[in-house]
Amino acid sequence: MTIRIPFDNSYARLPDRFYARLEPKPIAAPRLVRLNTALAGQLGIDPEELASPDGVAMLAGNAVPPGAEPIAQAYAGHQFGHFVPQLGDGRACLLGEVTGRDGIRRDIQLKGSGTTPFSRAGDGRAALGPVLREYLISEAMAALGVPTTRTLAAVTTGEPVWRETRLPGAVLTRVATSHIRVGTFQYFAARGDTEAVRLLADHAIARHYPEAAGADNPYRAFLDAIIGAQAGLVARWLLIGFIHGVMNTDNCAVSGETIDYGPCAFMDEYDPATVFSSIDRGGRYAYGNQPRIAQWNLARLAETLLPLLGVDEVSAMAAAQESLAAFAPIFQTAYLSGLRRKIGLAAEREGDDALTQGFLALLAAGKVDFTLAFRALPGAIEDAAALRPLFADGEAFDAWAGRWRSRLAEEPGGPGTASAVMRAANPAFIPRNHLVEAALAAATEQSDFAPFEALLGVLSRPYQDDPALAAFARGPLEQERVLQTFCGT
Ligand code: AMP
Ligand code: MG
Repeated sequence: MTIRIPFDNSYARLPDRFYARLEPKPIAAPRLVRLNTALAGQLGIDPEELASPDGVAMLAGNAVPPGAEPIAQAYAGHQFGHFVPQLGDGRACLLGEVTGRDGIRRDIQLKGSGTTPFSRAGDGRAALGPVLREYLISEAMAALGVPTTRTLAAVTTGEPVWRETRLPGAVLTRVATSHIRVGTFQYFAARGDTEAVRLLADHAIARHYPEAAGADNPYRAFLDAIIGAQAGLVARWLLIGFIHGVMNTDNCAVSGETIDYGPCAFMDEYDPATVFSSIDRGGRYAYGNQPRIAQWNLARLAETLLPLLGVDEVSAMAAAQESLAAFAPIFQTAYLSGLRRKIGLAAEREGDDALTQGFLALLAAGKVDFTLAFRALPGAIEDAAALRPLFADGEAFDAWAGRWRSRLAEEPGGPGTASAVMRAANPAFIPRNHLVEAALAAATEQSDFAPFEALLGVLSRPYQDDPALAAFARGPLEQERVLQTFCGT
């Protein structure tokens, strides 16, 4: 079955120095282990074609479909604060772009598709575990309503990859509104290539922030739009307990989508200092540091745009600083309004911030599960005692619950509305580390994909209670606790 995808590849029309043209490297024995048929439909691609031998050959990197123009994109990046002037797609290959049923243009990219001119010492490949991990978590994020890259498919290669041990190899098909990173801007700025920075900004404006094109200074409006998108994104991460784990500037997309699911994790019990990533020894990317780091990354972006921001250096610097100063208030507003909804408040009153912070302080003090506590909160509208056992300090909880219930009484919609507000803001199901690890272990060690499928199904409806799925909602038992996650690259 011929695969018909109406590719239109705007990035490949940018100058040669933006990428390397290449073919994905074929694999021995492709097997489609998961296809995201709903996403294929959104993209206007026939899932049956994708599942056919020609489709699988494309998803494996064994055949380049008509209209694709495969490239590896050039980018740089600050990794844990240290600048690397050339990173680039070392194991990814952008096949091309398609405009979906929703009119949105998206990249279709293979990840794990072999070496590229940017591979450095790497093998260009991906292991099945991290591929399934990205599949699960990116799709969970999408269902949770968080802007994110998506996963269209996972294919096993029939070839081993060598990390610390021999692992089964796989290729992931990633879908993103673009793969333009802060690090892409840094790549050109580091080379003094202002013309390329301008071309890239124009390209990104057209794709992501077309309204900026009409502003007095389109590049300033572009920077402001990215700052707004990133501030909103990180607020959403915090509101669901997500820790990205590697917020390097090359993993920070100007679209405002979450990108690069490596050692990311959801926290169980609430503690702002939580770190899972084995490589984040200093806690740079800890849960509670994420807003600060996003702002730092945006400052690196602003630096690359300086030549476009003002008529001279002084005015450009002033503009950049003014734009960056807006990050904190935008983040705070988004975060606090999200927190208010998490405790059932649709209206805004003075003292609400202290009330939400009071609840977080109780969670931190009692090492209470973040997701469970918020999901259980509607039950405390009628009967606060229902929640009391979760907290080490019952009296402190009673005092808070008293304040909270009197505040709820002021809500125009009454308790019914508050309950609905909370249920829409507080997921019942998140990709718990212990469930993710168990699903990946079954798939990679026993070729048993049933736990992966079951988890993926549950995570596609994160706000729908189902008593039959209690095992997916609860926190880890002591022996199930996952203390570290690995990027596996
Ligand atoms: P990441 O940790 O996935 O954000 O990747 C950081 C950089 O390392 C990017 O330039 C990747 O393309 C590159 N990279 C990661 N894994 C591999 C690999 N197995 N082979 C080649 N390059 C890789
Ligand atoms: Mg990356």
